[in-house]
Amino acid sequence: MHEAIGIDLGTTFSVAALYDGRRAEVITDAAGERLLPSVVAVDAGGRVLAGAPARARAEAEPDDAVFSIKRRMGTAHVVSLGGRRMTPQEVSARILEGVKARAAARLGTEIRRAVITVPAYFTHTQRQATLEAGRLAGLQVLRVINEPTAAALAYGLDREDLQTVLIWDLGGGTFDVSILELGDGLFEVKAVNGDNHLGGDDWDEVMLMLLAERFRRQSGFDVLADRRLRRRALDAAEKAKRDLSDHAEAFVSLTVASAETDRHHELQSRVRRAEFEAATRHLLGRMVGPTRQALKDARLEVDQIDRVVLVGGSTRMPAVRALVREMFRQEPYTKVNPDEVVAIGAAVQAGMLSGLPRRAVLVDVIPLSLGIKTEGRLFSRLIRRNTTIPCSANRLFTNAADGQQSMNIEVLQGEREVAGENVSLGSFNLDIHPLERGRGRVEVTFFVDADGVVRVEAEDLRTDECSSIEIRSDALLGEADVRARLREAEAFYAEDRRRRREFEARTRARNALSESAAILAGTGDAGEQLPDERVADIQQAHATLETLLADGDIERLAAETDKAVAAIQAAERAGAGARRAGIPESVESAQ
Ligand code: AMP
Repeated sequence: MHEAIGIDLGTTFSVAALYDGRRAEVITDAAGERLLPSVVAVDAGGRVLAGAPARARAEAEPDDAVFSIKRRMGTAHVVSLGGRRMTPQEVSARILEGVKARAAARLGTEIRRAVITVPAYFTHTQRQATLEAGRLAGLQVLRVINEPTAAALAYGLDREDLQTVLIWDLGGGTFDVSILELGDGLFEVKAVNGDNHLGGDDWDEVMLMLLAERFRRQSGFDVLADRRLRRRALDAAEKAKRDLSDHAEAFVSLTVASAETDRHHELQSRVRRAEFEAATRHLLGRMVGPTRQALKDARLEVDQIDRVVLVGGSTRMPAVRALVREMFRQEPYTKVNPDEVVAIGAAVQAGMLSGLPRRAVLVDVIPLSLGIKTEGRLFSRLIRRNTTIPCSANRLFTNAADGQQSMNIEVLQGEREVAGENVSLGSFNLDIHPLERGRGRVEVTFFVDADGVVRVEAEDLRTDECSSIEIRSDALLGEADVRARLREAEAFYAEDRRRRREFEARTRARNALSESAAILAGTGDAGEQLPDERVADIQQAHATLETLLADGDIERLAAETDKAVAAIQAAERAGAGARRAGIPESVESAQ
């Protein structure tokens, strides 16, 4: 049988999903990748590439690649790729071919039919261009549906009582607001609005400027001067932005080669979420106007909106969610992964058009985050709640103590920042090579299969020693427990954040203390040759941190740690030994 799939043909990424009448699942590639970059490129031999290989090629040869073609759909624009002239439809067709090939490989059957999604504001010409792209890719396009409609379908909102749904879709390059009204199982688009030039890319650009300015000040190095380096720095900025959705602080490290000295420099910086949010407040503010206009066009007041549904990777930013709470006085609807919700809805529509029944259970998601216990009894999330299964994630950890010989990996489920408040699903030990605190590297990987079975592996990257545990799905919490725990996490949110912040501030301060102690003891490569004023700065910073660590004023400790880090960096530039930068979270020893 030829399956009919749903395709979200996105500006930055495309996603495909399949609905089997019971469950909708994202179609991954052989490596488990869920998103396919919407990039087309040509390689040195003139071969056209799409998806991840095209993105890799773009890093080496930015001129041989096309990004964000969706913005050009329905226009007379022509791109030149490896000497070949291509219309936006032709470029999009290559992306669709990539999606089709992935699905065929995964499902073991040819893919001939699909539902493709488009933004609600797309004109007739833009929709025609999308249909044409599908046709060029050898697909029978069963229907082109609006992205917000697909999102509402994925949530099963078509099965509930009449209601008014507002959808915010903040992707890589665009922001769309749609207001849908549901009646008799059909969605009517009441109003659409948006900003064609607002998206995650703008947040990346702000992060890039912030980092570039810091790197320039730190080392005189201009990462914006060279196109390839700018591309790499932009990728690092985008990653830091994503990290800040999960952590209060992100660490950026970029190795660059200096043309003059032919040496490699390590450019490093830490960015705090609060700093980034302050620098991007104007971008967030640009979401308000189109939303007000859409409400006005639909003749609705804020409190007449029953649900606010979030779509698009950029709605993961905590500031966006906070804005929903502020504007609509309700929690955003985020049960399905925002990158995947449109593809899931398109798959449901494809299934329905193929005659499959429509049942309540659409997607299986991880209802509460999964992670491990780290130093200070904190909870480190590896798989966030609402991630659709099957899925996997990994992260590096380090040793909390000097000479630590064994690590206890305790697997937890929950939303609290404090490990002990979450449910322990099991634990296991891993023998590790004893090293100085912060030097060990242990990779922890979580795998969750389609049946909800969780396998956790830990590997000491130095010795390849490995250990693992398997947790059956019935050990995970049921629905009632999940709801209770979510309520609890919300009630303790502020307190938990405070505890985490305090612990993180203390850890950073302790790391800065050991770095400054090493410089003062002259154990750094050139410690003794430091100018007197640098030594004095470090001594002063060291003494202040010691006092504050004993004292407990966390805000001052964080501020003084920033100053200490700056003094350490200045000392390093003046010749002191290399800093142990980018230390991962640490795991305490086994009892
Ligand atoms: P989309 O076009 O919907 O695929 O959205 C892609 C955009 O979402 C890109 O700008 C990504 O950088 C952004 N994005 C993905 N994950 C996150 C995250 N965790 N936090 C912030 N932005 C994200």
